[in-house]
Amino acid sequence: MLTKTEIAANIERIKRELNGRAELLAATKTIPPEIINFAADCGITLIGENRVNELLEKYAALDKTRLRVHFIGALQTNKVKYIADKVEMIHSVDRLPLAEEIERRCAALGRTMDVLVEVNIAGEAAKSGIAPEDTEAFCEEITRFPHLRLRGLMCVPPKCDDPAENIKYFYKMRKIFIDIKQKKLDNSNVDTLSLGMSGDYLAAVENGSTMVRIGSAIFGARDYTQK
Ligand SMILES: *Cc1c(COP(=O)(O)O)cnc(C)c1O
Repeated sequence: MLTKTEIAANIERIKRELNGRAELLAATKTIPPEIINFAADCGITLIGENRVNELLEKYAALDKTRLRVHFIGALQTNKVKYIADKVEMIHSVDRLPLAEEIERRCAALGRTMDVLVEVNIAGEAAKSGIAPEDTEAFCEEITRFPHLRLRGLMCVPPKCDDPAENIKYFYKMRKIFIDIKQKKLDNSNVDTLSLGMSGDYLAAVENGSTMVRIGSAIFGARDYTQK
């Protein structure tokens, strides 16, 4: 992880580069709450966590008066209950039983959960997400649930060295996004296309992203050995 001075400079630079074109979500897996709260000092208002257990461990120490929390990682159905009252949006809805469980838990809490549908845009065997050709039908299915509000789509494209290689996937995502937006489905307000990470956020923004999820370009390389 980088020093606070370096983190502050990264946030300032990335905000300048984005120039209001997309919302900046700081991807905070492995980052301790003290540093996350420091990021809030530097103007970060939105964070994304990947693992339920880690989110629960850190949650009390996060400055929720300044930070909104999204869940961006793979989500097990039996863990929805732990986060349903803590996060504002779930980026990774990728199967019906998960949507049903979010509906059930949020109904019990009397709240609505903003959700994105995760798309496996490159059809990678090992990756979660709805197949591109099934995305529209899946969106129609989950917008039957009154306690979910469909806000858009998310994807994690293949890792690659050249951000230009992912532009074709961003383009495909944008096309599906526009089609779904035009359907004006019940229980939806489709305005969020969550694309772009540390290696490709500028390419993503130039190709229609409205929200970038940035971790290592803010905080430095992650150290998974620390606890
Ligand atoms: C870790 C993570 C990110 C951020 O990755 P970086 O390459 O460090 O910017 C974005 N999205 C998801 C779902 C992640 O798990």
